[in-house]
Amino acid sequence: MNEFKYISENLKRLEDDILRLCVKHGRNRDEVLLLPVSKTQDIDKIRYVYEQGYRTFGENRVQELTQKIPVLPDDIRWHLIGSLQSNKVKYIIGKTVLIHSVDRISLLEELNKRAHADDITTDCLLQVNISKEDTKSGIEINDVESFLSMASSFENIRIKGMMAIASFTGDKNVIKAEFETIQRKFVDISSKKMHNIDMKYLSMGMSGDYAEAIEFGSNIIRIGTTIFGPRS
Ligand SMILES: *Cc1c(COP(=O)(O)O)cnc(C)c1O
Repeated sequence: MNEFKYISENLKRLEDDILRLCVKHGRNRDEVLLLPVSKTQDIDKIRYVYEQGYRTFGENRVQELTQKIPVLPDDIRWHLIGSLQSNKVKYIIGKTVLIHSVDRISLLEELNKRAHADDITTDCLLQVNISKEDTKSGIEINDVESFLSMASSFENIRIKGMMAIASFTGDKNVIKAEFETIQRKFVDISSKKMHNIDMKYLSMGMSGDYAEAIEFGSNIIRIGTTIFGPRS
């Protein structure tokens, strides 16, 4: 599959860069998960990345995810990273290892209901809005604690951490300040014991800002363009 050689070259360059950044910031490479984001990508390209050894992929739309699952290998661990409508929960319950985009209690209620019906627990991240842009979804940083204390009562949900998307800006200082804000919150909450809350993952960093994310403690970086090239 020589036509996809550029993808393996992109991966190699990216892995080298992640390793360099981990060393630079005193991080262990093993604690940062590279999550290839395969949204809009053809099955052949995703399979090629799989063949390079990757077993965890991120998708942002339920319909696309449910179409891809049956035609790709069974041992792929799928993350849902995009916003989730409550009426779509039934299609993906039990099919993801992590949902990054929980941003409201009504969604947790639906997830909990469906997980309970299937006798499973569903791992989720809380999406937190760290950007000043109105268009970004996620709960406000000051509301995180009260949200978590409500989330705590859903017995078929485990909150495994937080996810954030930085402002779309070339100003690295703005991005660093946003990542630092959520890192502080993450560390702060990690020190507290809350039922059903286990602050294990801090999902932040995309193609344009994974360097800053690694600097500020991210342990899941969600990378699409840098691996697959620009989306059509
Ligand atoms: C598309 C997407 C990404 C990956 O973006 P790239 O800039 O292509 O790396 C990461 N996170 C979310 C939530 C996305 O929707």
